[in-house]
Amino acid sequence: MRLRPIPPMFYRESENNPFDACLVCGKHFERDTLYVVEKAFQTYQPYSSRDLVFEYAMCIDCYQEFSASMSDESRAAMDEYMQGRVDFDEREEALMNDPDPDTSRWTSSCLVSGKPIQELDGYQAVGLFMGNWMIVSHLPCVIGSDVIGEIVDKLSNKTIDMLSGFVDEHFPKPPGYEKDIPRPVLVA
Ligand SMILES: [Zn+2]
Repeated sequence: MRLRPIPPMFYRESENNPFDACLVCGKHFERDTLYVVEKAFQTYQPYSSRDLVFEYAMCIDCYQEFSASMSDESRAAMDEYMQGRVDFDEREEALMNDPDPDTSRWTSSCLVSGKPIQELDGYQAVGLFMGNWMIVSHLPCVIGSDVIGEIVDKLSNKTIDMLSGFVDEHFPKPPGYEKDIPRPVLVA
C-alpha cells in the first residue's frame, strides 16, 4: 500500500480542505479511517472551465454497503464492460511504482477512453483515502460522462433506482444546472 498527500482535486470544494466525515453515517474520519471520495464535474468549452456538480466522502463501511446494494446483474454488466477496456492490475502496478508523489497525471484523462479531461463534457473523479492520505491502488481515477452514460445503460432498473434515490436524497441540483445529476460510479 502506498500513501500520497491528498491532491487538492479531492478536497471538499467549499472549504478547500480534505473531507472529515462520512456523508451517510456522519462518522468523523480519524487517522486510520478508510473512506472514498467521489466528485462530479461539468466542463464548459471552449475554455475547459469546470463546475462541481456533486461531491461526497463515504466511510468504507457505508461505501461497501452502498456498493453491495448494486444488483448482481449490474455488477456483472459493469465488470464485463470494463473487461478488455481497462487493465486494473497493470494500472495498479504502474501507479504504485510511480515515484512521483504528484498523482495528477493519473487523473488527467478518462480511465476507459483515455480522453483528456479538458475534452470531456463532464467527468467523475474517485479516490480511496485513509485519514489525511490518499491510498494509491488502481485509484485515483477519472471517468468521462460519455463512458458513465454507457455503463448506466447496462445497469438493471433496480440499480438505477438505487443510485437515483441516493442522488435525490443527497444532491440537490446546483442553480443553473439543467441536466440530470450524474449517478455515482462504484469503481472503488
Ligand atoms: Zn459511514
